[in-house]
Amino acid sequence: MEALIPVINKLQDVFNTVGADIIHLPQIAVVGTQSSGKSSVLESLVGRDLLPRGTGIVTRRPLILQLVNVDPGDARKNDDSGREGDEWGKFLHTKNQIFTDFEEIRQEIENETARISGNNKGISDDPIHLKIFSPHVVNLTLVDLPGITKVPVGDQPNDIEVQIKDLILKHISNPNCIILAVTAANTDMATSEALKVAREVDPDGRRTLAVVTKLDLMDAGTDAMDVLMGRVIPVKLGLIGVVNRSQLDINNKKSVADAIRDEHAFLQKKYPSLANRNGTKYLARTLNRLLMHHIRDCLPELKTRINVLAAQYQSLLSSYGEPVEDQSATLLQLITKFATEYCNTIEGTAKYIETAELCGGARICYIFHETFGRTLESVDPLGGLSTIDILTAIRNATGPRPSLFVPEISFELLVKKQVKRLEEPSLRCVELVHEEMQRIIQHCSNYSTQELQRFPKLHEAIVEVVTCLLRKRLPITNEMVHNLVAIELAYINTKHPDFADACGVMNNNIEEQRRNRMRELPAAVPRDKSVGKGPAGPTVVSGEPSASGADMDGAKAPATGPQGEQDGTGNWRGMLKKGEEAPGSGPGSPLKGVVNLLDVPVPVARKLSSREQRDCEVIERLIKSYFLIVRKNIQDSVPKAVMHFLVNHVKDSLQSELVGQLYKSGLLNDLLTESEDMAQRRKEAADMLQALQKASQVIAEIRETHMW
Ligand code: GDP
Ligand code: MG
Repeated sequence: MEALIPVINKLQDVFNTVGADIIHLPQIAVVGTQSSGKSSVLESLVGRDLLPRGTGIVTRRPLILQLVNVDPGDARKNDDSGREGDEWGKFLHTKNQIFTDFEEIRQEIENETARISGNNKGISDDPIHLKIFSPHVVNLTLVDLPGITKVPVGDQPNDIEVQIKDLILKHISNPNCIILAVTAANTDMATSEALKVAREVDPDGRRTLAVVTKLDLMDAGTDAMDVLMGRVIPVKLGLIGVVNRSQLDINNKKSVADAIRDEHAFLQKKYPSLANRNGTKYLARTLNRLLMHHIRDCLPELKTRINVLAAQYQSLLSSYGEPVEDQSATLLQLITKFATEYCNTIEGTAKYIETAELCGGARICYIFHETFGRTLESVDPLGGLSTIDILTAIRNATGPRPSLFVPEISFELLVKKQVKRLEEPSLRCVELVHEEMQRIIQHCSNYSTQELQRFPKLHEAIVEVVTCLLRKRLPITNEMVHNLVAIELAYINTKHPDFADACGVMNNNIEEQRRNRMRELPAAVPRDKSVGKGPAGPTVVSGEPSASGADMDGAKAPATGPQGEQDGTGNWRGMLKKGEEAPGSGPGSPLKGVVNLLDVPVPVARKLSSREQRDCEVIERLIKSYFLIVRKNIQDSVPKAVMHFLVNHVKDSLQSELVGQLYKSGLLNDLLTESEDMAQRRKEAADMLQALQKASQVIAEIRETHMW
């Protein structure tokens, strides 16, 4: 079977390359009746004298004979016994002992058989494991089995027939086993026990090869012509006749080579027409063919595997890029590519679109409209402002005089306080966008500009430059956003159309109320005077400002339009009117109220007077209305500022910044130093690719080989 060696060896290289499991060649087992010549057949296939043979029951334990191909060079090295020889054997049960003398191997098989099965014809299903190392064998496993017997002899149990059959079936039922069904020519082929048992596990005869031994021992006047032609029993894979060494030959120590020569002569003489389709050599060739068929069946899968791997290595190799030739061109190209990818990621036109999460421009959009927008919307216009705060502010703004109006200054103070609260989320928005811009750097170097991985120093430098640029823009953007809020704080524009609209609605309401008040005035005045000058002062004056109130109306606009309209008491002018009513109806009470307030300079929770409640309501409505206007402005202007001062600025200046800082002849060498293992990795990938291409070629050759 040496013809297989080069093929298997070539394949072995392929396996080593692709890391696939080696193809497991089928094992070959011999079955047949006792003394039919099974051991003799196996032995002539191996080409060495090593198995015990003889009349009667000789093979009494299964022998698993593993042939291992070794390099001729390795052969000597492994012989630690110091003896020369390129073939040697090892038994499992003798551990590392090395047998270079095949006579000793046979002796050891006999001893070991006797050790377990006794000396008196007993059998055992415990196999003997023997490995033969040789440069002249293929990696193949042969199994020698005890022969089928019917009548117990010696120590054999009564059910010896069943036991042996079970033992045989155990070994040949493995679908990866080729069965050599051995029948002696001097027995009746039609009753062949060997074929019978083989058929039990291989009914289709796909892996059974019939071997007819002892052609030389047929009765005078008979021949095996019919049998060999397959006319007695057809066997799909074929019937092969052989002549092994007789007992006399064994006794005379006839060599395998001589036996094969004599066999050939015998076949030529006795069966000239069939000579080239029988004999030990032909049997070996047939087995070769079967094994090659098996290998061929395994090739397509192997081939696919090679192709897949080759494609993977090809793309790996191209991702490593070519070695750098023109440094400055490479540098410029890499910088430009990075800058372009960076901008593309922001614009959403990047080559590698991320699917796992939002990234780049889309994320910035999300930050603006979801994160920032939502946060602003969740800011309560009156958050952090308690009724007491409002009352205190009103009182503080009034100064020493008890007030009849809600002083305008208190609205301004309070609304500024609320507007100020928009600054923090706005600055946070800048921070988030800045973070995302920073993240885009990573994204670009990971996915888009993979060549950068080759040049860690350039990568680092690019990251540094972009990070710096971003960092430089951060305070500028923050300042702008801070200013946007400051601008809002700088001037509370109560003439803002949205605010004034509501005010206009209120005016009508107020006018009406004023007219009502004028009608009531004559009755009210004397009572006012009687109350005392101090508090009456503002009351008198109140009429005037309310008349000239048209001016103020614009500034101190009432609260939310529709609500204000529905509820006249809930606005400033309402307060003005009520303020006059209050002293009118009960002159003592307002004075009393003032005193109370002074008594309690730090207000505590208590029940508010109806006037206080109204004051608060008015202020609250005004704050709310104005706050909503400002919030809308901020919500609109902050993203615009961030885009202009940070995002667009970085986008526009990135390329020139990178070129300006990195494209310097003094830096070229340093920046374009490849990472240490890159050259190594490129070489490994190239080697692997070459090996795979060779493997693919080997497979193609094997498939085309004439052996089929
Ligand atoms: P096994 O029990 O089936 O393993 O048979 P062996 O291989 O031990 O052979 C049994 C006996 O038959 C031995 O003495 C062999 O020499 C002899 N023998 C086997 N094959 C042939 C053959 O083809 N021709 C002759 N003349 N003797 C054979
Ligand atoms: Mg035998």
